[in-house]
Amino acid sequence: MYRIRFHGRGGQGMKTASRVLGSAFFHEGFEVQDAPRYGAERRGAPMNAYVRADRAPIYERGIILRPDLVIVADDTLVPIPAAGVLQGLDNRSVLLIDSATPEDEWRKRTNIGGPILVLPLPDTVDRSSLAMIGIACAGAAARLIGVISEDALEQAVRDELAPLGEAVVEKNIQAAMAGYAAMSDHAGTVSEGVPAAASGAGSPDWVDVPVEEVRLSGPAIHAGATSVEVRTGLWRTFRPVIHYDRCNHCNWVCSSFCPDNAISVAEDGRPVIDYDHCKGCMICVVQCPPHAIESVLEVEAAAAERRGSA
Ligand code: SF4
Ligand code: SF4
Repeated sequence: MYRIRFHGRGGQGMKTASRVLGSAFFHEGFEVQDAPRYGAERRGAPMNAYVRADRAPIYERGIILRPDLVIVADDTLVPIPAAGVLQGLDNRSVLLIDSATPEDEWRKRTNIGGPILVLPLPDTVDRSSLAMIGIACAGAAARLIGVISEDALEQAVRDELAPLGEAVVEKNIQAAMAGYAAMSDHAGTVSEGVPAAASGAGSPDWVDVPVEEVRLSGPAIHAGATSVEVRTGLWRTFRPVIHYDRCNHCNWVCSSFCPDNAISVAEDGRPVIDYDHCKGCMICVVQCPPHAIESVLEVEAAAAERRGSA
């Protein structure tokens, strides 16, 4: 059985990627399971999706604890323990990361023994369109597994995305094929894992949690900024940038609409974004009446910031 886990952030199309890979397996005659798993269900939050595929009926259920292949669409997830990217990887599991950081650096950072690959994508894949990253990951996974043909992959994209129209389907097929081609030197690197056996399985690592009164165990949160220690700004893939020459201090519509309370108003009346806690939902960009807030790719904004401070 093949066990594949996709990790990404809400909005990166990883649920669709798992569906496309599952359908492609199906076209090759496999029995398939695929399912997404969300935490906070909102754009930018860590999520994962998994696919099981076998020539025989699949009786295994639940999340994949010992993956044969892990695909990571957003490399900022790797150091976040709660995202569980490295969970269960052994010396034969393949880790594929969409990242500008080279493989040997990831080897040092993760200290894992199995193959590590980074996903190089040609310029024809529009990285500013988040969903394109997910579909390219699906294509790359198909090639790494080695039992999925281009025809099966193309048909799977058509099956899953047909309701979105022909133009979207064609764009996604192009991105899926780019991912497929990018892994041509590693075709078949992923091997099937052994079936999980009930015999010899250890007992669950139960812990006793003392029962508390509801009054104590249910925290009351009545205001924003109660989670200052959690930098949700790390989730951001796009950054809102205010152009103060166009901002007319319009009663701070942006601040009122920000769902994370990440825009405050300075003493001189200027709206100021708290980038440590702005999750990049772009609601402020849409709501600003004079269009004074621009949406900029996070990597480009960070690079411009570094150049400015150099
Ligand atoms: S909504 Fe736009 S114009 Fe109004 S305060 Fe915010 S940035 Fe300025
Ligand atoms: S993008 Fe704008 S509205 Fe969304 S969290 Fe950031 S500052 Fe708030």
